[in-house]
Amino acid sequence: MIRSIHILLIMLAGIFAGIVYRDAGLFWWACAIAMYFVFGCLGVVVTFHRYLSHRSFQFRWWWLERLFILFGHLAGSGSAIGWVAVHKAHHAYSDTDRDPHGPRRGWRNFVPDYDDVVNYRMVRSMLRDRYLRWLHKNGILLIAAYYLALWLIGGDIAVAFFGGIPQAITILMSVITNWVGHVYGYQTYETGEDSRNCWWLAIPAWGESWHNNHHAKPGRASFSHKWWEIDISGAVIALISKQGTMK
Ligand SMILES: [Zn+2]
Ligand SMILES: [Zn+2]
Repeated sequence: MIRSIHILLIMLAGIFAGIVYRDAGLFWWACAIAMYFVFGCLGVVVTFHRYLSHRSFQFRWWWLERLFILFGHLAGSGSAIGWVAVHKAHHAYSDTDRDPHGPRRGWRNFVPDYDDVVNYRMVRSMLRDRYLRWLHKNGILLIAAYYLALWLIGGDIAVAFFGGIPQAITILMSVITNWVGHVYGYQTYETGEDSRNCWWLAIPAWGESWHNNHHAKPGRASFSHKWWEIDISGAVIALISKQGTMK
């Protein structure tokens, strides 16, 4: 709990900021949605999930990979090393008692507590990367520095709409997708667990709710297996991946 409690605190602080600033106006809320794209889609879904967890493509530019990893860290859902270790455990133990998240955990999904789940053996290659190791150790400090920079530039409201609120949306959407993706929707593939494809969550979840497709073919960069299954993250990957590397 000690290491992952900041995820819960960021989520609660972001929700509180959203309530306080609910009347801030369209401009600020548009900024929050744009930042949810940066943190949620580019950072967490494209980079932590499809790139670092499943190696489903290669970045066209090395600096973009480093930048998107940074976005993922600023999302507040924990370090890349921690995130990937938890996610690999989810694929290995889907819908069993060892699954770190999902419907079986019920309300406890909203209290992310991953300290006991992280198995460093699952992320051995990531531990060799100095940048990832540094971010794993200093992620909370980095977020604090990011808040300070926002505050110096734009005050409390900038911290809320460029920090806490989009971070809370990112964390909440992950929790919701992990839960919905194993409860609602149809199954294209017999995967042996409860994963499902849910159309109404596809756009806000950046394509992650085509979850049955993903469990069936985890190495594939695009989660859209039918022409009408919209996958925004898959489209982003098509733009940023080295030619021919997108699986
Ligand atoms: Zn799943
Ligand atoms: Zn996955």
